[in-house]
Amino acid sequence: SPPSPRPSELQLHDVFIAVKTTQAFHHSRLELLLNTWVSRTREQTFIFTDSPDEVLQERLGSHLVVTNCSAEHSHPALSCKMAAEFDAFLASGLRWFCHVDDDNYLNPRALLKLLKTFPQTRDVYVGRPSLNRPIHASEPQPHNRTRLVQFWFATGGAGFCINRKLALKMAPWASGSHFMDTSALIRLPDDCTVGYIVECKLGGHLQSCPLFHSHLETLQLLEAAQLPEQVTLSYGVFEGKLNVIKLHGPFSPEEDPSRAWVEVARESGKAEWS
Ligand code: UDP
Ligand code: MN
Repeated sequence: SPPSPRPSELQLHDVFIAVKTTQAFHHSRLELLLNTWVSRTREQTFIFTDSPDEVLQERLGSHLVVTNCSAEHSHPALSCKMAAEFDAFLASGLRWFCHVDDDNYLNPRALLKLLKTFPQTRDVYVGRPSLNRPIHASEPQPHNRTRLVQFWFATGGAGFCINRKLALKMAPWASGSHFMDTSALIRLPDDCTVGYIVECKLGGHLQSCPLFHSHLETLQLLEAAQLPEQVTLSYGVFEGKLNVIKLHGPFSPEEDPSRAWVEVARESGKAEWS
């Protein structure tokens, strides 16, 4: 038989990028994203929120998805958004689903380079494990029994990606209302639920990748020279201190709170010595 045509080389326009946000962060976090990496991935990026916003709607058009999910930091509300992201990806027909939070910086070039390394024939779930061991959950069984299960999951706050081949297999547990049911069943958050479906329901495995970063790790440890290779970065406050990458730049901490660590340190140094 004639050789089957080789699938075309992966391009950024094959990737569906979902950003999870909430009303409270439309200004404080999204603005930063729209002015930076989202401006380079406009066609691919969809912002999932919980409240209408005329200003954002104007700017994003159909790329703003106002879900019916509630604006709270509860497992059901967050799972509701993940379900909306997953369904929109399935409907898009694209080859890869990538999720990030609204406090992530995504480097599209590094993302594409990573995704190109995976053969199309494989099921892929790639991201940074939250813990250095599998998480445990109890899975309800018939007759009031439970089964203890364990699995790895990619921390949602660092971003993760799933290819279409795997996503289609996940659909019975992840599409429509199933995702929220699955999350409620194991009583764990949305990112854990993704890991549970992949590993416990489908026998797949999280592919651990150190190029994804959340603000749960010490971001100052990343060397400036390594930054261009990283797929995602983040920023936040950890134990009362700013946890951000070290990077000089033209913007003041007020203008850019996501990489102000050096500036802040210099400011406090000035105050001490003056
Ligand atoms: N988020 C949300 N609803 C909320 C609070 C947060 O959808 O009520 C989203 C937020 O926009 C972000 C993610 O959930 O994309 C994680 O929130 P955050 O960074 O505030 O908390 P973390 O879990 O990282 O400490
Ligand atoms: Mn966060």
